[in-house]
Amino acid sequence: MIIFGTKGYLYQLAILTLVCGQCGNPAAHTLRKRVTKFTLFFVPLFPISTKYQTQCTFCGAEQKLTKEQAEQLQAQGAGGQAHGQPQQQHDRF
Ligand SMILES: [Zn+2]
Repeated sequence: MIIFGTKGYLYQLAILTLVCGQCGNPAAHTLRKRVTKFTLFFVPLFPISTKYQTQCTFCGAEQKLTKEQAEQLQAQGAGGQAHGQPQQQHDRF
């Protein structure tokens, strides 16, 4: 008997101050990545879907993002903090 399924992972990438499209407040938004992985015998093997979203901490509204939008927001968030991480761009596609 083969047991397979999916497992969801939620990663918090950044916290950003954005004007919410729902409530209009310049509130903190969490930038999240949700990865769904294919599992075989409860062992995650490979991701089958990756989705990005922001959630307003003021009203809880969620907004879906493309990968490009999420990366742009994350870069902005990282740029606003003094961690000194070098930014690298990979444009191989
Ligand atoms: Zn809101």
